[in-house]
Amino acid sequence: MNHCDIAVIGAGHAGTEAALAAARLGSDTICFTINLDAAGNMPCNPAIGGTGKGQLVRELDALGGEMGRAADKCGLQFRMLNSAKGPAVRSLRAQVDRGRYRETIKHTLELCQNLRLKQAEVVSISGKGEMWELTTEFGERYRCRAVVIASGTYLKGKTIVGEASRASGPDGMHNSEPLSESLAELGCTLRRFKTGTPPRVNARTVDFSKMERQRGDEPHQVFSVDGSPQCSGEIDCWLTYTNERTHEVIRANLHRSPLYSGVIHGVGPRYCPSIEDKVVRFADKLRHQLFIEPMGENTEELYVQGFSSSLPADVQAEMLRTIPGLENAEITRPAYAIEYDCIDPTELSLTLECKALPNLYGAGQFNGTSGYEEAAVQGFIAGANAALKLQSREPLILRRSDGYIGVLIDDLVTKGTSEPYRVMTSRNEFRLLHRHDNADLRLRDIGYAVGLVSGEQYAKFEAKRDAIKREIERLRTTFVPPGTSVADLLKRPENSYDTLIAQLGLSLGLSPEVSYEAELIIKYEGYLKRQEREAEEFKRLENRKLPADIDYTAISTLRLEARQKLNAIRPENFGQASRISGVSPSDITALMIYCR
Ligand SMILES: Cc1cc2nc3c(=O)[nH]c(=O)nc-3n(C[C@H](O)[C@H](O)[C@H](O)COP(=O)(O)OP(=O)(O)OC[C@H]3O[C@@H](n4cnc5c(N)ncnc54)[C@H](O)[C@@H]3O)c2cc1C
Repeated sequence: MNHCDIAVIGAGHAGTEAALAAARLGSDTICFTINLDAAGNMPCNPAIGGTGKGQLVRELDALGGEMGRAADKCGLQFRMLNSAKGPAVRSLRAQVDRGRYRETIKHTLELCQNLRLKQAEVVSISGKGEMWELTTEFGERYRCRAVVIASGTYLKGKTIVGEASRASGPDGMHNSEPLSESLAELGCTLRRFKTGTPPRVNARTVDFSKMERQRGDEPHQVFSVDGSPQCSGEIDCWLTYTNERTHEVIRANLHRSPLYSGVIHGVGPRYCPSIEDKVVRFADKLRHQLFIEPMGENTEELYVQGFSSSLPADVQAEMLRTIPGLENAEITRPAYAIEYDCIDPTELSLTLECKALPNLYGAGQFNGTSGYEEAAVQGFIAGANAALKLQSREPLILRRSDGYIGVLIDDLVTKGTSEPYRVMTSRNEFRLLHRHDNADLRLRDIGYAVGLVSGEQYAKFEAKRDAIKREIERLRTTFVPPGTSVADLLKRPENSYDTLIAQLGLSLGLSPEVSYEAELIIKYEGYLKRQEREAEEFKRLENRKLPADIDYTAISTLRLEARQKLNAIRPENFGQASRISGVSPSDITALMIYCR
């Protein structure tokens, strides 16, 4: 019998962060994966970040997570999305070298103290009193005090390409059937979700002269505030479009689409529709954008973003031949859909621990989300909490008022999700406070207090924070005739920090991060103050705890639906209770009176 403190099932984006967080907090950790060479694998777009997702990666980095550093190290191109819009919706996105990202993540896992990596499929999990017992495909048994399930799209994975389907994980790797049975026997509610990916083509067979070049930002920003090594960032992406001929091929073959023939049962992500879905749902659109993205520096494979599909392989080839630049493109991997099992996240608490199964945690796609970034932040929270609980320390709970990670987890465990959940800036009511540029100012204290940010990193952060404070103070207390503060001048839309400071000869040569933050805080002062008040109001309800053992069914002043929902979700405080669908404001009032 083998022993450890924490077992993490999965070395994907969730499993990696969970294993590193738990081991870095001193827990003896084992990370299992079906294929070690696929640690940190990107079975879909070779990119990190994007709208809302960029904020997640920055928040994870501020807390001491790994994804941001790895993305900076393996980035091929960086772009700040929505840079022409307000700061609340600007998000960094990096095209990443898929092969190098896997190597980087695998090596980071191998170098981590207290962490053992195992290539073995876990085929069963059972509770033994305070302990969990795992058995692998090789018959080895492991006894551990806590488990994090980060099984991604592998649980009863089934890949579908037209009429062809088979039990499989992504990228041809074998799936994981028995663990799904084992979790169901433990009483976990498992649902069937689906996602899809587009074809890959060989660059040698693509005519780029018929496409628009998409360059990265130069100079470009990076994800990690710890200034990890940067890559060239000068590899281009390309833009082309579908057209009416493409749409005709799709319409003519909808009868062979597993999506429309009923072969696919799993629920797919509304915000990542397949191309056939787009053609059907947006029939009036004459063309759909396709971004042709590099998958790495040492490969000719290209990712056709926006062309996810599960139509038969021959139809995919026919569709590609209608697209400018792809007329002769050779498909290296066909597009496919994958169905898989995942848990109902309302069975989890804000620490991502199973309410009914102590010391069992869920993270990533297994929790009903879609996306590397969403997976990584959940892995971090689950892994850290598994270790903190074993060490009888305060749990790491991030609230909606703390950032996107808090919004994501609260949405999952309080409202649940009926399709793969992905983060968007519109989901965050405090998005002006939770910007891409201030993740460290919001969360680095927490990462340091938990013990996942080093003293050296923290000292560098404190220096930056103090420099921002000093600069804001300087701008507010420096006056120019006839007695206007520089800060008031800066509030004028026509003035920007760089031009104004240069004009007034007040430059101190501060870093772009410090001057950007000082400018933003001064220019958006009014809006920021209002959101801060809203966040304070939110925290007031959030801090009103609800007893853990309350019997909601016995509260006659609550409506029946509210009694049932409250009993199922068992919210930790009044704020969370008020966000449960089916619980009305009058129910909250009745509950307050009852609790008083
Ligand atoms: C076909 C496809 C299309 C996708 N499309 C999109 C998209 O359009 N947009 C988007 O945002 N995201 C998409 N994704 C999702 C994205 O890949 C995942 O969100 C992300 O990889 C999830 O990370 P994860 O860590 O939860 O799981 P994964 O990265 O899938 O990692 C799961 C890990 O668990 C391990 N594992 C599973 N079962 C066992 C077991 N029994 N024993 C041991 N190890 C086990 C695996 O070996 C692997 O290491 C897609 C994924 C796929 C496969």
